[in-house]
Amino acid sequence: MRPRRHGPSRAGAAGALLALLALLAGGCGRQDPVAPPGVAAPTAATAAVDGKVSGRTDVGIVIVTSHPVLAATFTVAWDEPASLPLAPRPVTGYAVAIDTTGPVSAATWRRTTHVLEIVPAGGRGYARTYGPDTPGVVAGAPTWLAVVPVSGNGDPGEIGGSLAFRVTDGFVIAGRVISDQGEPLGGVDLDVVSPAFGPVATTGADGSFRTVPLVAGHARALRTRSGADWYDYATLPIGAGDPSPVICLLDRRPLQFPLEGVDSKLFLGVVTRWFYHNVDATRPFVRWEAFPLRVHIAAGTNAAGTVDLAAIAREQIAFLNAAVGRELWVETADSTQAQVRVRSYTIPGFLGQTALNPDEPHPVWGTTPPRWMRLVVDPAVATEQQARYLFNHELGHTLYVGSHSTNPNHLMWYQGGVSPGLPSADDLRLFRAVATIPAGTDYNRYED
Ligand SMILES: [Zn+2]
Repeated sequence: MRPRRHGPSRAGAAGALLALLALLAGGCGRQDPVAPPGVAAPTAATAAVDGKVSGRTDVGIVIVTSHPVLAATFTVAWDEPASLPLAPRPVTGYAVAIDTTGPVSAATWRRTTHVLEIVPAGGRGYARTYGPDTPGVVAGAPTWLAVVPVSGNGDPGEIGGSLAFRVTDGFVIAGRVISDQGEPLGGVDLDVVSPAFGPVATTGADGSFRTVPLVAGHARALRTRSGADWYDYATLPIGAGDPSPVICLLDRRPLQFPLEGVDSKLFLGVVTRWFYHNVDATRPFVRWEAFPLRVHIAAGTNAAGTVDLAAIAREQIAFLNAAVGRELWVETADSTQAQVRVRSYTIPGFLGQTALNPDEPHPVWGTTPPRWMRLVVDPAVATEQQARYLFNHELGHTLYVGSHSTNPNHLMWYQGGVSPGLPSADDLRLFRAVATIPAGTDYNRYED
């Protein structure tokens, strides 16, 4: 028996890149936040490397460390002084005081200075954290801070030096998390990554989320933590002023290929050639814009005149639509409107072939968006069953399944022999997946 195959071109990808980049412009799946703008470091003279400043106040050296992720959040640390400044009166605590008008002093104490807290004395070292909800803390404000010993009645002693720093500014990321079906996903936690940090938002019932204020001047990447039913997603970096992200999660339940040791997403990526092509470190999923595909079927029989190939094509379309449970192909009488054109003529060396955009010079499966395909069955097919199996396999390719499975139980298997001819449960999942996952979905962004 002569070998058979489909015939995707493997020529260069360059011509298709422009079209693909255009695909990335908008919509679920193809949506991606823009790259972070050029963001400047805080400009206040007191800004310090690594968000840490130190200076001498009444209790000695005090260190203020700004939180790397949470805006307007900082930790004040100092050691128990070796000598007690208020002696002989007892030091009962330390007032952590800030002022946004100038250095903390006796003159400002009861006017513009905010005492954030009086920390009871008695430790060896102290570290206290304050945030945007602490009265007196103003995001983005130049701030002077002093740690001042106080006696029993809360009176400060002599107020000496202040430490100047800038409270970090914040920005909020607001967006939505939806499913690959477009449904809002509630209860999804979002973490900040880089630097790794815990949840900063949880989606509401309508899928919307709003993070706590994050330190401005840096782009942040978000990662979903959606549980076992979804492939989790990490966005591209998002900076202040960037468009609201819409994060589209892939339902992993329909993609559970029962292949031992084979990740279903990997399988999907191989068979569709999804991850063969990187565009600026992304691997966007290319597929048909919409289903069902319009199929034009030309009249034809096999060479012996015993098999009506056009009739078989119609029957296999109906068979596969029913097996998938969704209308993926529909016949059209208008050849010029057809996305799939079924033809019958001799293909040297093969019994079946599906060609992508046959009028283009170098279309590449996995990269070139499909405009139309030509499904050819060679009249050399001898039997009706052979024709049915051939159509099943080639119709699978017309869904933009550009490659083959390595599992001989799969309809989409091919290794130079005769493939099984009937779709397995995996093939049906594959067909549903390629018709469901949004175009432009970035394979690289999804994690198990
Ligand atoms: Zn094939």
